[in-house]
Amino acid sequence: MSASPRFDAVHTANTRKPRQIERILGQDGRPLPVSAIFGMNTFSLDVMEEKLPRPVFKRVTACVKEGAPLETDVADAVAHGVKEWALENGCSHFTHWFQPMTGGTAEKHDAFLTFARDGSAIERFTGAMLIQSEPDASSFPSGGSRTTFEARGYTAWDPSSPMFIRETANGKTLCIPSAFVSYTGEALDKKTPLLRSMQAVDNAAQDLLEALGHERTRVTASLGCEQEYFLVDRAYWALRPDLAIADRTVVGAAPPKGQSLDDHYFGHIAPRVQAYMQDVEQELYKLGVPAKTRHNEVAPGQFELAPVFREANVGVDHNQLIMEVLRRVAIEHDFKVLLHEKPFANINGSGKHNNWSLSTMGENLLEPGKTPNQNLRFLAVLSATLLGVQRYGGLLRASVASHGNDFRLGANEAPPAIMSVFLGEMLTQIFDALEQGDVLPENAEQAVLELGVDNLPTVAKDNTDRNRTSPMAFTGNKFEFRAVGSQQNPAWPCTVLNTIVAEGLKQLTAWIASEGSALKAIKKAVRESSPVRFEGDGYSEEWVTEALNRGLLNLRKTPAALDQLRRDTVIKLFADHDVLTPIEVEGRYNVLVEQYLTQVSIEVDALKIVVDEMILPVSLADRASLADGLGKLLDLKAKGIPVDTGPDVARLKSMSASLTELTRARSALDVAVAEAGHDAHACAAKVVPAAGEVRAAADALEGLVTDSVWPLPKYREMLFLV
Ligand code: ADP
Ligand code: MG
Repeated sequence: MSASPRFDAVHTANTRKPRQIERILGQDGRPLPVSAIFGMNTFSLDVMEEKLPRPVFKRVTACVKEGAPLETDVADAVAHGVKEWALENGCSHFTHWFQPMTGGTAEKHDAFLTFARDGSAIERFTGAMLIQSEPDASSFPSGGSRTTFEARGYTAWDPSSPMFIRETANGKTLCIPSAFVSYTGEALDKKTPLLRSMQAVDNAAQDLLEALGHERTRVTASLGCEQEYFLVDRAYWALRPDLAIADRTVVGAAPPKGQSLDDHYFGHIAPRVQAYMQDVEQELYKLGVPAKTRHNEVAPGQFELAPVFREANVGVDHNQLIMEVLRRVAIEHDFKVLLHEKPFANINGSGKHNNWSLSTMGENLLEPGKTPNQNLRFLAVLSATLLGVQRYGGLLRASVASHGNDFRLGANEAPPAIMSVFLGEMLTQIFDALEQGDVLPENAEQAVLELGVDNLPTVAKDNTDRNRTSPMAFTGNKFEFRAVGSQQNPAWPCTVLNTIVAEGLKQLTAWIASEGSALKAIKKAVRESSPVRFEGDGYSEEWVTEALNRGLLNLRKTPAALDQLRRDTVIKLFADHDVLTPIEVEGRYNVLVEQYLTQVSIEVDALKIVVDEMILPVSLADRASLADGLGKLLDLKAKGIPVDTGPDVARLKSMSASLTELTRARSALDVAVAEAGHDAHACAAKVVPAAGEVRAAADALEGLVTDSVWPLPKYREMLFLV
């Protein structure tokens, strides 16, 4: 043991070995391939087929694939089947697994254990228990809507997302992906509005398909979330109260190397990290989450995991599981995973790119097709999407608003807070031609040919290159919504995206009817949405000015963004598409504002702890010992011994200046907190900048105080993993 816990942590972190993980072995003692373990802990359609009587299975399939309602007798049969399966696999408990408005997941476990009439113990699980269960809803946020109506809520299985078994050290639990609603049917969670928005976009897309002369067929929104995260060694984490409390370093001077060399992105993955990733993947495979890619990200210590996309509600569940597994497995590898949008200042933040599209059973509607007819449909859906973003860009911005994400959006490293769409060169030419093109032939199919859309499939994918500065980029056959924060539940941004696109599609369908021509309708949509198309550098200052001229919103901070939820047009949009009632919108607004205030106040608390209990005392002591030393030198000087006290005085001076500044900023923070009170706008305007000033002074001291006494692990130590 050295005298410094920090140096001990450095030693510990640098001498750890990659953790050998337990592979699942086959009969022959060799590790099973992924295909053999994939989904082994999910009650998938395959398992259901095996466990359920044929007619029941057919009706369940209809629920899962076509969204048909779940009848009681089917629920009973499924409940019986899943109970057998869960017991065979060693489960003792079940839980409805749901996504309250807090943003995380929640669960309440119940044992299968019940007692028969004769008093003997048996395991029981019925359709009624599967369809709904009653958690005590009172401690989940509702934003006030619950007091207006009904105090109790229930959770109900979402049959389109498979049940799964979660394994923990001493047992297994059957988890039932569920929606959470009040008894009066109000959504109390993130899943219910998502499911409603999927219905809305399905309805609107089917109407459009019909108007275009295509067959009506179910359309689903798809979602694949690329998840970025940081890893830090647990030994460092334990010495950083800010990481423990706020998941983010509220102080810390930039490391000398940082990401300036750009050598981390796609670089060699450190062995310990690779072992962790493999462990995470194995856990995810068991849960049927198709983890596909892993790589280093831009910042040191930053990584990414992306699964293969699924129907949006399953995609959301998968993302929740990914975050849960990342957290759980990290501990076993002596890491802590940081899912916060901005764990380290001056280092890239983390996002969650939401890849999104619309498809029928067999076709991606955002995929340029082979025939002019398919391509007309493609242009229609694409222009309808743009129209939605044009009209509701502010709402889209609001859907990603959080205190954590405020450090990222517009911070010259992440998409700006201005919502625009990147289409790529080829599509831009086509859209420009549509916008201006009075010369296009009346015949839509002919026009599509002339526009050159039929050449798209071959070139579009490579051509829709990497404009990383766009918040919403078309990437060949899907949109990538990049403004989403890394720790956010993607359900809400996806709900908003589905809803605004549903509106775009609905408008387009109406125009087809009124104009009597699909092409004219598309042109109208292209014209109206023209301002939202932007191909240039989204990080540049010029774009901020230009966007303003184009009339686009630039809502830099969360409270301003959240105000969008109070606009009449937004409230009406949600009501028109049966996604949220006005009361539900109001409830969500209240919860989000409250969350913002809480997040800011947690960070302020963390900052106070770190400054008052660690940085100030250590810095004062260090200054005192400098002063002692100087005193001794001056004594010598007085005795006529020639010593140069210049360096000591200079150091003492700069340290004193920094201490004075820290003390000033620290008092100013208290004043700002008191003045802002419970007002989110004031919090953003006063408290957040005041905290920034405290941080700046603390970081200056980090560069002055003797390294061996500095208590907090430094960026240069935490960020580079071996
Ligand atoms: P890129 O490298 O351009 O980001 P990838 O093909 O690696 O593209 O895909 C990134 C993510 O997008 C993955 O999660 C992938 O499953 C998802 N994705 C691909 N196609 C679709 C789609 N049609 N709908 C939703 N997500 C998709
Ligand atoms: Mg991508």
